[in-house]
Amino acid sequence: MSVRFFDTYTRQLETFTPQDPAAVKLYTCGPTVYNFAHIGNFRAYIFEDLLQRHLEARGYGVLRVMNLTDVDDKTIRGCRQLGVRLAEFTKKFKDAFFDDLATLRIKRAQHFPAATDYVEQMIEMIRVLMDKGVAYQAEDKSLYFRIGKFADYGKLAHLNLEELRPSGRIQSDEYEKESIGDFALWKAWDENDGDVRWDSPWGPGRPGWHIECSAMATALLGPELDIHCGGVDNIFPHHEAEIAQSECVTGRKFVRTWLHCAHLMVEGEKMSKSAGNFYTLRDLIEKGWSGREIRYALLTVNYRLPLNFTFDGLAGARSALGRIDEWVVRLTERSKDASTPVADAVDFSAHTERFFTALDDDLNISGAMGQLFDLIRESNRAMDAGKFNATSAAMLLVQWERINSVLGFERDAVAIPAEVLMLVEQRQAARAAKNWAESDRLRDAIAELGWIVKDTKDGAKLTAR
Ligand code: AMP
Ligand code: ZN
Repeated sequence: MSVRFFDTYTRQLETFTPQDPAAVKLYTCGPTVYNFAHIGNFRAYIFEDLLQRHLEARGYGVLRVMNLTDVDDKTIRGCRQLGVRLAEFTKKFKDAFFDDLATLRIKRAQHFPAATDYVEQMIEMIRVLMDKGVAYQAEDKSLYFRIGKFADYGKLAHLNLEELRPSGRIQSDEYEKESIGDFALWKAWDENDGDVRWDSPWGPGRPGWHIECSAMATALLGPELDIHCGGVDNIFPHHEAEIAQSECVTGRKFVRTWLHCAHLMVEGEKMSKSAGNFYTLRDLIEKGWSGREIRYALLTVNYRLPLNFTFDGLAGARSALGRIDEWVVRLTERSKDASTPVADAVDFSAHTERFFTALDDDLNISGAMGQLFDLIRESNRAMDAGKFNATSAAMLLVQWERINSVLGFERDAVAIPAEVLMLVEQRQAARAAKNWAESDRLRDAIAELGWIVKDTKDGAKLTAR
């Protein structure tokens, strides 16, 4: 078994070889907390969740960091519009983000560093870059990285950077940079920033976005990461800049494997806040979709393919989950049914292995789901034919748990409401009195409340619809 990933840097499938298999260093760019994250952002986070869960299923330990960008133009604008402090403004969206992660069953990283807690480390990195002459302070007092000093600049994005290389002084309206491609490390304070400012050896200001990730990644994971992820829009300039800054400071290769997921699209366009064509998770929950259904829709398309968001896709997720649920219920019942003969054991472990082998191949989730649905179809057939005994069912449930440790598709544990329980009791009494009309009426009343009652030889069983 070996896991392979398509590395953005080499543009090839590469066998994954982390520095320490017990602690794979994974850095994932997190949200800018100025608003609720949209489901395009969550596509990226769900892909990263699949990555983490699959690595864990394959026996790796994962040490994951996801940053929170809690200072930038947008967060500053937001807090100033409301007249509140930056930390107060961003707290609301940080909290909402963690709630959304839970709704989507995304495993939590070990660290969620907030940029504002690492400004000291950012200043230290910039100081090294200044000492080495790869950074400079412009007339506007901001500090920039000189891309011409870093020979590998552009290699991640595979860009022809000729036009970005310094060719005399280019004056742009926005910046006072030596070269149009130079990016900001430190933004000098101006009145639009209000009270958002930190002192530095070069005057008051705030860090640029790119240095935030370099500093937080290095502080928490060291100079060399095993995997760094994000959406494809992060490749340039953000990740390109991270490489340049980090490698100039440490002299080490910053990242061994770069993984980027394609965008979530809406009618042919990237879902984004600026295009206004976005749904937040909360919008969809309000429309009656569950976190599990949204997770399914975002997870089951291979991460390097664009995913077109549609409500039909969500409906498809709902019915696929229904099939899985039915199968799990059936297996559970069969696993407790001692009446089937022991000799009829059927082993489906080869299907389970194929599920994981598909994921080894650059997280080929659609191939893996194909294996799962084959497994469901064939085991259902075996159960129909009465060939499937309790032991086989119990074995298959254990395999399902392994598979589901990667998918996270288990049903929500729902408490049965007292009202439903009361109706079930009344129905039991009606049945005991052989009052079938009343029993049927109560069954319908229970169904109206969203529950299905089934009579088995062990008594009435309830399932949520
Ligand atoms: P942002 O808050 O814009 O910095 O984005 C946070 C993360 O979401 C980054 O990894 C982006 O690449 C990713 N992202 C943003 N929009 C989309 C989209 N429509 N589809 C997939 N990923 C996205
Ligand atoms: Zn980042």
